[in-house]
Amino acid sequence: MIPAAFDYHAPASVDEALRLLRSLPDAKLLAGGHSLLPMMKLRVVSPGHVIDIGRIQALCGVREDGRALVIGAMTTHWAIESSPLVRARAPLLAECASRIGDIQVRNVGTIGGSLVHADPAADYPAAVLAVEAEMTVVGAEGRRTIRARDFFTGVLSSAVRADEILTEIRVSALPPGTGQAYLKFPHPASGFAVVGVAAVVRLRGGRCEDARIGVTGVGPTAYRAEAVEKALVGTTLDDRTIAAAAEHAADGVEANEDLFATPDYRAHLARVFTKRAVRAALERAGRA
Ligand SMILES: Cc1cc2nc3c(=O)[nH]c(=O)nc-3n(C[C@H](O)[C@H](O)[C@H](O)COP(=O)(O)OP(=O)(O)OC[C@H]3O[C@@H](n4cnc5c(N)ncnc54)[C@H](O)[C@@H]3O)c2cc1C
Repeated sequence: MIPAAFDYHAPASVDEALRLLRSLPDAKLLAGGHSLLPMMKLRVVSPGHVIDIGRIQALCGVREDGRALVIGAMTTHWAIESSPLVRARAPLLAECASRIGDIQVRNVGTIGGSLVHADPAADYPAAVLAVEAEMTVVGAEGRRTIRARDFFTGVLSSAVRADEILTEIRVSALPPGTGQAYLKFPHPASGFAVVGVAAVVRLRGGRCEDARIGVTGVGPTAYRAEAVEKALVGTTLDDRTIAAAAEHAADGVEANEDLFATPDYRAHLARVFTKRAVRAALERAGRA
């Protein structure tokens, strides 16, 4: 319950935050604080310095940049789920945000904090994989872009280095005929995903032209279910082809185990939720 003592900093710009991050030993960025503070209270981490990036306006909000949607790293889960722009341009992200924790958590937790924290049972990772988002980070050497599929590197680790700041998440517009859906089996104790599946399917002439399936909660990191995608593309996406493709949802993944779900049960849920998510996305593609 009681975190160790630390010094608090509240920079007003990304440059100032980067300078602090470089000059202070054992510093941690503070975004919504809803993963960092619980860990500090348990003393799993005890940083000497906390750099609060919550006052940096440039990191907040949603905007359009040509055909891309750009979401600032400090945008809260609630702002994403309720944004008309996100709902229109990247409905999968809005739906995913709306399934996170409870309303108090969504009111302060941010997309940037969630992605960098990289909890294997977090919701957004499945969605950013399925929409093939690109993450922009800044550090001492300037700006670089990380593709969603290169972003999640292990349990609680991402490709963002300790001296870098994630600034924005960029999602390209999806063509007409695309349907998307995020379905989740929440853990009864924590609300995190025992399994969460984000599906994006695109139809052309009655057949599946493109399929992208992001799965979270099952393995050490969220992943693209490539075998499912391959099995879907080119088919008419009827119940039989969807069910057959979904059988591959946990192929090659060593499934997690906890008090609630054995690895076999998790893999089973991955198959069931993949089937349901593809069906839901298909229904929406038809209506697009
Ligand atoms: C009760 C409860 C239930 C929850 N349920 C869910 C759930 O169902 N699904 C789910 O996905 N999540 C859930 N969460 C986690 C929640 O979504 C957190 O808000 C999120 O994981 C972290 O975001 P944050 O903004 O709070 O980050 P913080 O806790 O402030 O930071 C997390 C980590 O990211 C780093 N960081 C933050 N921002 C940046 C940045 N811009 N650049 C570089 N590093 C950065 C921090 O230094 C820290 O290491 C839950 C949390 C709680 C407390």
